[in-house]
Amino acid sequence: MRYLILSDVHSNLEALEAAFKTATGMYERVLCCGDVVGYGPNPNEVIARFMAEGASTIRGNHDRAACGTGGEEWFTEAAQEAIHWTGAVLTPEHRKYLRELPPGPGRSPDPRAQLVHGSFLDEDEYVFDEFSALDNLNATDIPLTFFGHTHFPSLFALHRNGGLDLQCSADGSLPTDTWISLDSRSRYLINPGSVGQPRDGDPRAACAVFDADAYAIKFIRVRYDIAAVQEKMRRIRMPVFLIDRLSLGE
Ligand code: ZN
Repeated sequence: MRYLILSDVHSNLEALEAAFKTATGMYERVLCCGDVVGYGPNPNEVIARFMAEGASTIRGNHDRAACGTGGEEWFTEAAQEAIHWTGAVLTPEHRKYLRELPPGPGRSPDPRAQLVHGSFLDEDEYVFDEFSALDNLNATDIPLTFFGHTHFPSLFALHRNGGLDLQCSADGSLPTDTWISLDSRSRYLINPGSVGQPRDGDPRAACAVFDADAYAIKFIRVRYDIAAVQEKMRRIRMPVFLIDRLSLGE
């Protein structure tokens, strides 16, 4: 079985469609680490696409805030503005969809893998460095944890000898479009990056494919029509900062 791993789509329909199109034929099921909505202009369309695709997703902090389940007091002003707009336009069906998303950690159909938004220990934690990665890798027995929230494609590997490796797209150490073999004796934290709002300096949509039979992962970057999304965001008066950052990828 092959899985398309998504995270942080953030209501960006153009980026999501581009990711699906590029990954066509490369996966059978879709898994998502949360933040389906927030920031972008198409929350209802993105949720409808998730439902049609039968994607398995846990909730992210933006999904939680958008459906009124709380936590927006921790958001930046721009993120709050976007989440209020999102909450106001959600259809009742899609608000229910967000309310019913389970918090992480969520089991994936592959028993070796689980989904979290921020981290295994805290759905709002940002795992950027080795210290928080190690805390999380030591707290779970599940070999593979897919996570999101940072919007940085990255791979932490804890080996049997206690050694910890970190590869991240931001410093060029994480290869794209090439299969990375996973070691069944190591434990991993893997972030596919953000589909709808990348922040690692590369504005292309990010996602990953996990081949459970080959036990390997491939990180993918996909060009999409950023200007079209920005135009929609201008029309609904989203904060300029959120519009500009899409073309910068940061
Ligand atoms: Zn996010």
